[in-house]
Amino acid sequence: MTDLGATALVAGGAGVVCASGAGAWLASPVVARRLAVRRLAAHCAATGAVALTYDDGPGADLTPRLLDRLAQADARATFFLLGRRAERAQAVADAVHDAGHEIGCHSREHLNAWKTAPARAVADVAAGFEALGRWLGERPIFRPPYGKITPWTARAVRARGARLGWWTVDSGDTWPETPEPEQVAGRVERAGGGVVLLHDFDRAGENAEDRAAFVLGVTAAILDLARRRGWRLAPMGALLDEMEADRR
Ligand SMILES: [Zn+2]
Repeated sequence: MTDLGATALVAGGAGVVCASGAGAWLASPVVARRLAVRRLAAHCAATGAVALTYDDGPGADLTPRLLDRLAQADARATFFLLGRRAERAQAVADAVHDAGHEIGCHSREHLNAWKTAPARAVADVAAGFEALGRWLGERPIFRPPYGKITPWTARAVRARGARLGWWTVDSGDTWPETPEPEQVAGRVERAGGGVVLLHDFDRAGENAEDRAAFVLGVTAAILDLARRRGWRLAPMGALLDEMEADRR
């Protein structure tokens, strides 16, 4: 708690430093994100938890393959769907939901809130919740596209009674060169658990199948890691619930 308190003081300082420009508006969400990620990582390490999260889907090809792999391990994950993709692949979104996985919102069009006029970015958040409404739970989670949030989009998320869902380990599945799946699992193991960012949209291009294989490979490596270490695989909402209960 002392550590968090100290960081909160730094957060206040950042606001002062940037007060002369537009940065003042952006600084507080950036600091809030850093704090939230740190808390998430600490909770996972303290309770032996791993969350698998998949963004930008559903993918008509990759998502069902992931559902099969997760079912084999009896594991539940979180899928942050894009509204426009879910509208085009409703049966796949239904399959994710019916398999007991958690569905979160990742906006409709995947606009970068830092590069978009505030009203348009807020409208994209709202459109995402509208498009995904039938699959979202009572307290849905919103994962900001590109991890970018502004005071306006943060307020739009809160106004829906939704929570922000960050990640602690980026699998690298969108990097120009992917690491080995075992390297990703190694990073999670050294952190003592965490929330892993992956993407389940259907890629285009010649290395599409390599990327799909990588996503499946990381999923298998994390499932194996959790089994070996006796860690639980939890959907993000369960972790956020536990963290809220701890603070009460
Ligand atoms: Zn995304």
